[in-house]
Amino acid sequence: MIRITNTLSGKKEELRTLEPNRVKMYVCGPTVYNLIHVGNARPAVVFDSFRRYLEYRGYSVTYTQNFTDIDDKIINASNEEGISSKALSDRYIAEYFKDACALGVRPATFHPRTTDFVQEIIEFVKDLEKKGFAYERNGDVYFDVSEFKNYGELSHRNPEDMRAGARIEVNEAKDDPLDFTLWKAAKPNEPSWDSPWGKGRPGWHIECSAMSSSLLGDSFDIHAGGNDLIFPHHENEKAQSEARTAKKWVSYWMHNGMISVKKEKMSKSVGNIFNVRQALKIYGANALRMYLLSKHYRSPIEFSSERMEEAKASFKRIVNALEEINKKIGDFSCKEDAFSHEWRDRMIEALDDDFNTPQAFSTLFEMVKLAHSSDDKEKLYQMKTLIMEWNYFFGFNFEESSSSSSKAEPFIEELIKLRNEARLRKDYKQADKIRDALKSLNVEIRDSAQGTTWRWI
Ligand SMILES: [Zn+2]
Repeated sequence: MIRITNTLSGKKEELRTLEPNRVKMYVCGPTVYNLIHVGNARPAVVFDSFRRYLEYRGYSVTYTQNFTDIDDKIINASNEEGISSKALSDRYIAEYFKDACALGVRPATFHPRTTDFVQEIIEFVKDLEKKGFAYERNGDVYFDVSEFKNYGELSHRNPEDMRAGARIEVNEAKDDPLDFTLWKAAKPNEPSWDSPWGKGRPGWHIECSAMSSSLLGDSFDIHAGGNDLIFPHHENEKAQSEARTAKKWVSYWMHNGMISVKKEKMSKSVGNIFNVRQALKIYGANALRMYLLSKHYRSPIEFSSERMEEAKASFKRIVNALEEINKKIGDFSCKEDAFSHEWRDRMIEALDDDFNTPQAFSTLFEMVKLAHSSDDKEKLYQMKTLIMEWNYFFGFNFEESSSSSSKAEPFIEELIKLRNEARLRKDYKQADKIRDALKSLNVEIRDSAQGTTWRWI
């Protein structure tokens, strides 16, 4: 039985889906006004991997990830370039797919865009107004938080405390500082749509409520995203949706931790971002996926070149084990037996427990170690099969790495030759330097009377 930590209860809960063997899931996606950075890639990779794991465990998953393609940042960026917000967001949606594809993130079942759902959003807001949860002021429409009794339930905040701490803004037309915008009146030179409240555009929070109800229904199983979205975004989404239907909207809320650089959250506003595009070029997709999955999804992670090099080396250990197994077993094959069942059970036990990927990798690396020390072909064959089977949810691209490591082989041979020449002229300092350099590339060399041999470690 799969258990996940539900932000709503703050506890690990057993996954019980609304429909048998089916998971309906919604993940808040990026605002498309620039290239995504490593912080944006974390929910994309973590929840892609979790979705794959749900499928591995027999669920059919309807996975929805939106694109916010209208908001202040998009309007500002498009005005700066002198192009339409549609042209700008179309460009960055295409760029997003390039990065996601390189990272091995599978396309969602649905990728809704806000501007394709404006009519549904208007209907949603009209409904809230009819039910007494929304009011209009000068073409802006606000959600009336005082009418919704469970406000603060998800983020575990008390509305009274929030009101006491709220800043009173000048010219504020809202009745309550906690009320938030559902619909914004049009400003000059902004894209706008006709509505019962005049020309305007959707507020940010309403899009996820409207798109999920159109695509997944009034209630669904899992809503996921970064923990920076818990308040106000997810709290507000929940209030709107539950006010409208009077039903429980989402069964499980999953939130990933943030990525920091030198202890500060990676974000565009702090100015410490690292684009996925750059990271892919320097470290490769497999290292990036390994880095993003090696810590538990709820924990914060630090981004640094050291962490990335570690992730790269960890991934290489898996590739080396597969190469070594292939060398040892050739085309030997056999049926699976208790050996496979035990290891598979251990892997499932780790991931069923709140998607504990660090535990899953520690199981995998235990197997990698065993692969190096074992000569039992039956076991080695089963190890190889399991590693490939588990890659269904880890999502690495072994093709990419094997071609790059086989490309590296002539260079390794060349370095060994140089080292042997250094030893012949008794330049041991240089010889050691070359040996250390090879070691940092995960290459171990052995000298014997027959000459020098090497292997991946
Ligand atoms: Zn959202």
